[in-house]
Amino acid sequence: MGEEVQKIADGLHAQLATKSKIFSAASTAYGAAPNTQACAIDLGMPGVLPVLNEKAVEMAARFGLAIEAPVAKRSVFARKNYFYPDLPKGYQISQFELPVVGVGHLDITLEDGSIKRVGVTRAHLEEDAGKSLHEDFDGMSGIDLNRAGTPLLEIVSEPDMRSAAEAVAYMKKIHALVRYLEICDGNMQEGSFRCDANVSVRPKGQDEFGTRAEIKNLNSFRFVEKAINFEVERQIDLLESGGKVVQETRLYDPDKGETRPMRSKEEANDYRYFPDPDLLPLEITEAFLKKVKAGLPELPDEKKQRFMDDYALNDYDAAVLTASRDLADYYEDVVKNIADDPKLAANWVMGELSAALNKENLDISESPVKADALGGLLSRIKDDTISGKIAKEVFEAMWQGEGDADAIIEKKGLKQITDTGAIEKIIDEIIEKNPQQLEQYRSGKDKLLGFFVGQVMKATQGKANPGQVNQLLKTKLK
Ligand code: MN
Repeated sequence: MGEEVQKIADGLHAQLATKSKIFSAASTAYGAAPNTQACAIDLGMPGVLPVLNEKAVEMAARFGLAIEAPVAKRSVFARKNYFYPDLPKGYQISQFELPVVGVGHLDITLEDGSIKRVGVTRAHLEEDAGKSLHEDFDGMSGIDLNRAGTPLLEIVSEPDMRSAAEAVAYMKKIHALVRYLEICDGNMQEGSFRCDANVSVRPKGQDEFGTRAEIKNLNSFRFVEKAINFEVERQIDLLESGGKVVQETRLYDPDKGETRPMRSKEEANDYRYFPDPDLLPLEITEAFLKKVKAGLPELPDEKKQRFMDDYALNDYDAAVLTASRDLADYYEDVVKNIADDPKLAANWVMGELSAALNKENLDISESPVKADALGGLLSRIKDDTISGKIAKEVFEAMWQGEGDADAIIEKKGLKQITDTGAIEKIIDEIIEKNPQQLEQYRSGKDKLLGFFVGQVMKATQGKANPGQVNQLLKTKLK
């Protein structure tokens, strides 16, 4: 059969950050006691009328503008009929034929640094269902309807992705974008941002896509990657052993690292979509759109370009530093505190700081070392108070809450030795102790300079100015 290539399309559900539900005034706050935040409208009681939340429309429009998609002047809410215990209405209000956001696109950066454009088919507004709870009930299930009626933006991509890595890059890009736009908090643990991945494989050279399987509700980027890779292997093995891929919905089991069938996939016509008779078509005026457009923040791609222009960063650094708005803001704050050295700031934010954050699984907003404090530390490298190496030691102490850079340098006596006389004295001692190395150096083994530098730094506990040491040694060793 030959080698297969795969295609992947993603469906993302982003919970819109409105205070109230999409069709009612009930609160959307997370974490309330079960069934305390669902009103008669969310439950679809007889006689109630849904009223559309304007904020949700505004957020959908922000997203549409950001991906250069047309925002529909007229879109229609439809009922998607199906039975589920946490959907007491028996239908979900969604959009079907006429979604609020049409065809758009965004660019992802691949591992090799190249840029790939991924198409967005549509984005539509819909309400969320409640939640079934299967734990803590002695074998029974509980239903929490607090989430019922929470606004969602479902974002559907074109089948443009060819690997798990591309799918993850796309999801991360959307994830960053909705947070930049402040339309979704992006919290994947709380389910505010959920991914479904459609995966299919086909023999190389074949034009039409193979039968796809959908993996539902992936709530971390790591799981997305693992689930897709597992699914690709599963489908290839199946086809190569003469089997057939069936169209179905599957669930990923993170403990076992595999996907399992959940139910056979419904076709759109199984849902018996029809326009919701309780809701008028949604009409968006030019004036409304203009207002939304005026309120758009600087978007990730614009910010990245500005970082390259203003701070002379390369493509990669600019992409990393603008991956989230918080990180970009932090970086710019550091730069402000050390004028004229954006590259030094980039190295530290992407290096020491990111490593420390990752190690403790902290978000940039939770960093114990704030941007101005890091800027203060880097200023001490720039004015030669400490070396870059000592700065790492100071950073570690700052991270542990021991104070700001100046206080720590003072307390620990880390100030760089820049007194030429003092350094010369140490050099003389080291030369005297190592006559063999001196002879070898003088007979042409230039590499031994490194040995002498190392000895001096060791003797000064890293506090000698490395540039000065190099220069003085070269003269003395001659
Ligand atoms: Mn949906």
